Amino acid sequence: MPLSLVFATNNQHKLQEVAAKVGDRLQLLSLTDIDCHDDIAETGLTFRENASIKSHHVFNKYGLNCFGDDSGLEIYALNNEPGVFSARYAGQHGDHEANMNKVLQKLEIFEDRRAQFRTVISLLWNGEEHFFEGIVEGHIRRERAGLGGFGYDPIFEPLGYDVTFAQMTMEQKNAISHRAIAMEKLITFLKEQVG
Ligand code: IMP
Repeated sequence: MPLSLVFATNNQHKLQEVAAKVGDRLQLLSLTDIDCHDDIAETGLTFRENASIKSHHVFNKYGLNCFGDDSGLEIYALNNEPGVFSARYAGQHGDHEANMNKVLQKLEIFEDRRAQFRTVISLLWNGEEHFFEGIVEGHIRRERAGLGGFGYDPIFEPLGYDVTFAQMTMEQKNAISHRAIAMEKLITFLKEQVG
């Protein structure tokens, strides 16, 4: 019977991506799998805090090994906004078009358009907390380009590329993304633990 590990998410896409990498060494469970339907409030002021809130919620309530993640966009000229407010920057949660419009408008007066995506994962493993981080640097384009991805992808061009995240295939983006980098670090750690 493999050890089980909860990923504090209901995003099936994220879950499958990690499940494919950990193989059958670990049984990866979503919040739904453990019958957790709580709305875990992301009240932290940093990605680290929000990731930690998720992993602690599951660990405290169910006593299971668990990890949670939080991600977002940080724009240098805007003092790292939208940061933890990335999903609800323009007010309504998940309104990506309005969020992008707000970013483009705020950045109009700046020459410096550098930005980065960051993911932080908090893992509670046998009662100890471990953090894993992934960053991808780039800049904000003046206009949208591409139809793939989600969120701010159409306006984010990663450093060293001349296309936006939204112009990449899912495989290309997943090979270099902040989330993939953080997940790789988590998976390396987990493989060391379960052999
Ligand atoms: P989450 O923590 O992964 O749910 O991400 C929170 C928010 O950050 C999303 O709703 C997006 O607005 C933004 N975000 C995170 N990762 C990405 C990405 O890979 N591309 C575009 N936007 C992202």
